[in-house]
Amino acid sequence: MWAVVVHGGAGLIRRDSLSAEREALCHRGLAAALAAGAAVLAAGGSALDAAVAAVLVLEDDPVFNAGRGAVLTADGTVELDAAVMEGEHRRAGAVAGVRTPKNPILLARAVMEHTPHVMLVGDGADAFAAERGLPQVGPEWFVTEERKQQLERVRDGATAKKDVYGTVGAVAVDLSGHVAAATSTGGMVNKRPGRVGDSPILGAGTWATDAACAVSGTGHGEPFIRLGVGSRVASWMELGGLSLEQAAQRVVHEELPPMGGSGGLIAVDRYGNVCLPFNTAGMFRGFQRLGEEPTTSIW
Ligand code: ASP
Repeated sequence: MWAVVVHGGAGLIRRDSLSAEREALCHRGLAAALAAGAAVLAAGGSALDAAVAAVLVLEDDPVFNAGRGAVLTADGTVELDAAVMEGEHRRAGAVAGVRTPKNPILLARAVMEHTPHVMLVGDGADAFAAERGLPQVGPEWFVTEERKQQLERVRDGATAKKDVYGTVGAVAVDLSGHVAAATSTGGMVNKRPGRVGDSPILGAGTWATDAACAVSGTGHGEPFIRLGVGSRVASWMELGGLSLEQAAQRVVHEELPPMGGSGGLIAVDRYGNVCLPFNTAGMFRGFQRLGEEPTTSIW
């Protein structure tokens, strides 16, 4: 069995405020990400390659809050966070507050594969991207007109910060039964420069262990960090004997809300079970499994 699951963020996604055109763009982006991941897995590739391939598509898609089209900080700048983790050996790489790599997910992977470290931040991480020869771009690539307007609306109080989560992520299991997770984000709109969310924090927004599952989260990052969402889902399975479904639902619907944690996650176990719970109005999401058609949904 192989399976790939993707998300493009959770939040107060109102049916009446999402135009038909925008809705179609979201479905198209999610389907393209699934297709990229599925192509890797169908060819016998690794879960890690599949998760990264899916996230790359979403980073380059300006509709989602990662890479091009990322949300802006209070200063109107872009600071990107990303992480990858594979479940066989629990190797992981993460970057936070980066400004120049076109695809932060590739930099997170490079940290995992080409340094003895797990996480690099800020200027040091950007310098490492240059050293590795990863494509570098300026703000003109990342910053879209739409995000500038969004920042204005949030500053004016017309849109609440919590309405606009849009991180991207992918989890996958490959034919060898290994799982992996990848998450990439611009963080929260109007965030204080220097703020780091849950996405690059291993155990919070990104986690993978073959013994349980791979998880990628989206939502209000601070409660996700305080609860340790990704590793908590895995622990409920490994130590608590819960199924993937039970563990993921419990964390998202019972444990996060009392902490003010709105959002959702995607998860997959080594048997190809998938779970995509969210406690917000909607979550851009989709999945595909061996022998099945891809499915994408918002509400
Ligand atoms: N979880 C992300 C963060 O707090 C935001 C999101 O999911 O859109 O940085």
